[in-house]
Order: sequence, then structure tokens, then C-alpha cells
Amino acid sequence: MEKVVIIGSGMAGLTAAIYTSRANLSPLVISGKDEGGQLMLTTIVENYPCFPEGISGPEMVTRAREQAKKFGTRFRDGNIESFSVKAGSGHNTYEIGVEGEKIEALSVIIATGASAKMLGIESELKYFNRGVHTCATCDGPLYGGKDVVVIGGGDSACEESMFLSKVASSVTIVHRRGEFRASKIMADRVFANQKIRVIWNSGVEEVLGENRRVTGVRIKDVVTGKTAELKASAVFLAIGHVPNSQPFRHLLDVDEVGYLKADSRMRTKLPGVFVAGDVYDRVYRQAITAAGTGCQAAIEAERYLDGIEH
Ligand code: NAP
Repeated sequence: MEKVVIIGSGMAGLTAAIYTSRANLSPLVISGKDEGGQLMLTTIVENYPCFPEGISGPEMVTRAREQAKKFGTRFRDGNIESFSVKAGSGHNTYEIGVEGEKIEALSVIIATGASAKMLGIESELKYFNRGVHTCATCDGPLYGGKDVVVIGGGDSACEESMFLSKVASSVTIVHRRGEFRASKIMADRVFANQKIRVIWNSGVEEVLGENRRVTGVRIKDVVTGKTAELKASAVFLAIGHVPNSQPFRHLLDVDEVGYLKADSRMRTKLPGVFVAGDVYDRVYRQAITAAGTGCQAAIEAERYLDGIEH
């Protein structure tokens, strides 16, 4: 029987692993299909304290993983196939199915993250991280003084555009409809910003590039059918995120989008099951906030285990 199983190996899961392993709980981390989480898709992280010169996302993950290992964290590759609860006398136990194996645990920290939605066109993958990005806060500062395009019409697209307008020389939002989904206050800020323009009723057909760098996008007006090319050094996709909460939805509460619900101490409605990072946080979605909630979940798991022991 495992004391703590941590599901997910991004910044939230690895921070939870560092804390629980330092508490001598010998955690088992199940790495998942996207080992390292969204940081693995990020070029340079410049907003995480203690790295004034910046640090690459994969390097951060490697270091956190080494730190967790140093204190006795064990890692297991594989995806979650099932998650179930066994009600026992006094406390529950949890069974996690990983590629045919059943792992039993007294407590579980779910840190499976969220995945940015993609457009589903071949060229966005070809230029992914070479001009196609999914986080303006992370990668926007790489495009100081350049022209950039943002895809989407929600609060994220507006927020990302506002952020990018501080560094880029121009921001063009391409939205598939004739009005924003974003809240009025966010939309109004975009309309008032001289550096941002909006192209309505248009979808991106192709990301264009040369020498492995993005040079622009070809867009198509969905009303007139006309196509046009926009010059740009980067394309930021802001068409939403999908929380990776699928294996847990039958037992835990989720909001209307699928983000797992927890209280301010990261506790779900199942005793001994905690959440951390982007599978729960639909607002901030930063490495630092993932680390913060990973720490909280770990401390709460430790307290919970103390409680059932005594
Ligand atoms: P969202 O509200 O779901 O908006 C996604 C946008 O992307 C929509 O405009 C949608 O178009 C468009 N889109 C979706 N799939 C697309 C596709 N395949 N091709 C082209 N366009 C596509 O997602 P979000 O903006 O990430 O926001 C998520 C939640 O977080 C919202 O509740 C939002 O209010 C909240 N949020 C709040 C803040 C803030 O208050 N500061 C900041 C960020 C996010 P349609 O409009 O046609 O559907």
C-alpha cells in the first residue's frame, strides 16, 4: 500500500513530490503521457523567481525531478486508466489503474494539468515552439518589437493580447466570429489599445514559415471566403484549455468546463484526495502557482496521513 501517489509530473506534481518525499512519505509519481507537463512545451521561463537569467522549461522540470528523486521519490511511467475508491473502516483507500497494474494508496494528489487546445492544422505542429505558442506570459517576451497574431475571442485571447501589446510592435487578433466571447471589460480594453487590431469572422488556414521560423499566417474570411496573408513572427493560440480531469470525473466534482473542484486547502470531496496545478486552476495557470498548490496539497496529504495513523 502506497502512502501517497501523485498523478502527474509537471511543476505541481513535482513540487508535491519534493514536499512529500522530504516528509519521508516515499511518494510514487505516475508520470503520465506528457511527462513534465506544459513546461516541456515552453522555451524560456523568465518569470519564475530565482532565475534572473531565465531557465528553459525542460531544464526546470529536470531539476525539479532530480530534487524529488534526491529525497526518495519514485517514478512510474504510464497513463491512468482507472481510479476507484474502497471505503474502509476509518479511512478510504484508492486504487489507481496504470497500464494493467493496480496501485493502492492511502492518499492521492491529482496534478494531471491541462492541455492547451490546438487548431488541428498540420502547420501549427510544425512550428510549435518556433513561433507557435500557447502562453503569452511565458513566450511573449521573445517577440519584443515584432508583429504577432493571437487566435481566439475569449478572455484569454484578450488578456494575452494586452500582455503582448506591451512587448510586441503590433498585435492582430484573428477571431472566427463577429463578436468577442470575452467579458465586456476585457473586450473594451482591447478596443482601446492602439497596438491591437481585430480581424473578425476569420479562421487560420495555415501557419506560414521559412527556415523553421514563423513568417505569418494565411487566414480565410468565413463570410466572404476570401483568403489573405498576414505577416507575423509569432502566433499565440488562445482558444481555451482542456483540464485533464477525465479519469476522475465519475468520483469528484468538476466545474462546467471540467476543472476539478477543491477547497482552499486543495481537498476534494473524497478524504485523502487532493488536487494541485492546472487541472484545478483555470485562472492563473503559471508554473509558480502550480508549484504553490503542489506544496499545499503535499502538506495537506501529510496532515491527513498523520490523522489516520493516530
Ligand atoms: P473560452 O472562453 O472558451 O474562449 C475560447 C475562444 O477561442 C472563443 O472565442 C472561441 O470561439 C475560440 N475558439 C475555440 N476553439 C476554436 C477553434 N478551434 N478555432 C478558432 N477559435 C476557437 O476560453 P478562454 O478565453 O481560455 O477562457 C476560459 C475561461 O477562463 C473563461 O471562463 C474566461 O472567462 C476565464 N478567463 C478569465 C480571465 C480574466 O478574467 N482575467 C482571463 C483568462 C481566462 P467562439 O467565441 O466562437 O466560441
